[in-house]
Amino acid sequence: MTTDNDRAARLIHHRREGLAKGDPVALPLSVSSMFHLPGDPAGVPGYGRSANQTWEATEAALALLEDAPCLLFPSGMAAIAAPFFALLKSGDRILLPSDGYFASRALADGFLSRMGVTIETRPTARFEEGGFAGYAMVLIETPSNPFLDLCDLRAVCAAVRAAGGISVVDNTTSTPFGQRPLDLGADMVVASDTKAPGGHSDLLLGHVATRDADLMEAVRGWRGLSGAIPGGLEAWLLHRSLETLEMRFDRMCTSAQIIAERLRDHPLVRAVRYPGLPGDPGHALARAQMARFGFLISVTLADADAAEGFIDGCALLQPATSFGGVHSSAERRIRWGDAVDPGAVRLSVGCEPVEELWAALAAALD
Ligand code: PLP
Repeated sequence: MTTDNDRAARLIHHRREGLAKGDPVALPLSVSSMFHLPGDPAGVPGYGRSANQTWEATEAALALLEDAPCLLFPSGMAAIAAPFFALLKSGDRILLPSDGYFASRALADGFLSRMGVTIETRPTARFEEGGFAGYAMVLIETPSNPFLDLCDLRAVCAAVRAAGGISVVDNTTSTPFGQRPLDLGADMVVASDTKAPGGHSDLLLGHVATRDADLMEAVRGWRGLSGAIPGGLEAWLLHRSLETLEMRFDRMCTSAQIIAERLRDHPLVRAVRYPGLPGDPGHALARAQMARFGFLISVTLADADAAEGFIDGCALLQPATSFGGVHSSAERRIRWGDAVDPGAVRLSVGCEPVEELWAALAAALD
């Protein structure tokens, strides 16, 4: 069986096999819109909207990570939009998590519904109740962003399939090193590579992964004609970042566990959600289906002022939306309308040495 360590090691050397003597070891950056194309265009890259050597190398690296063919998109939302628009049609019903990333619901509400698709939502923790008959597609997000509730991927994906629907798992909060939805029965993974895979807060990208050739063809067709293609430079940056993903993710998850435990025991903290905490409602399931518990912590302080004071007062926290960077960051999600407590902070643990990070967090709390 291929382990995460095998994948991490192979990822770093994945270009080696294709190299000829004298080729650069580092991936060349290709930004060409045109290719030299006299005569019959078959079999070679034809135009920059359908092919680019840099994306292809990045997709090969992602495919190694996911153990499945992958397609890159210019953002996580573009990756989520692809199965929506490539696979759904008028009269279909789709189920989305009511506690997941808000933009997926906004996209469905604002645009799919106008095309005659019926949108329904349910909290992630209640996906295990089943009842998927009649849904053409079910979008699953576990742990959900921002409150970190879980559902049983194996059971939910099997039930969706038995009911004749397509299961699409947004794996952004975990990455393939934290959780492997395709191995647990998902039809498709969508993810934002803007987060931990990019890791340096300098790019937006996303990807789709699936082992189903028909689903892949539909999504590829959508990408080529809609023009939802990644830029060469972003793909190049992601390729470089993927080489250190396992190392960064390991540090972030290890630190998050330590920090979650200390936050839980802190007298000024009202509540902590982190799948790695033994008392967390999702802990038993997380142990069963996740390789790592992730780097996101939901921490609730007394009120909005206490939360803003904590975020602004910590020298090692970036007050910013988004997550997964080498720098720890935090924000109150209620400012975007998420249904959470005004004092709830989504904390993304970065790569700072953990004792220094904890000292800064504790000083800001006190
Ligand atoms: N999915 C989840 C769970 C997210 O948190 C986000 C962004 O925060 C996205 C998808 C969208 O990703 P992007 O911002 O790259 O479009």
